[in-house]
Amino acid sequence: MSESENKELPQEEELKDYVENGKNKLIVKCKFCGSKILDKKVAKHIKQEKELPLMQQDVNRNAGEIENELIKEFYHVENMYTFENIGFTHTVANTKYLSCAECDAGPVGYHDIDTKHSYVAISRIVHS
Ligand SMILES: [Zn+2]
Repeated sequence: MSESENKELPQEEELKDYVENGKNKLIVKCKFCGSKILDKKVAKHIKQEKELPLMQQDVNRNAGEIENELIKEFYHVENMYTFENIGFTHTVANTKYLSCAECDAGPVGYHDIDTKHSYVAISRIVHS
């Protein structure tokens, strides 16, 4: 076993700024318009790998194929009513993509139609 294997991932350090007791320590907002998406301490931080289409504003959207991005950290929201503001973009299979209710930026995460649980991509929101 080498010493380098014992080192913590740099990401763990950053997490302390916005995750406390496994939940979001700060208010979660839209990156683009600042609309409040989640209140403090209502969503659970989880790590899972899920591909989401790249965020695109309507003006930049063209008819070409949409690229995906692998997201590894999410806020898990069990009940849709937990959201302060949220919208939907489109549905693919059993997944509805979540968008900002104010400016339609998205996807900022996804909603699983089968379990009714929602997942907000931490890299696609801001904390305040
Ligand atoms: Zn917005």
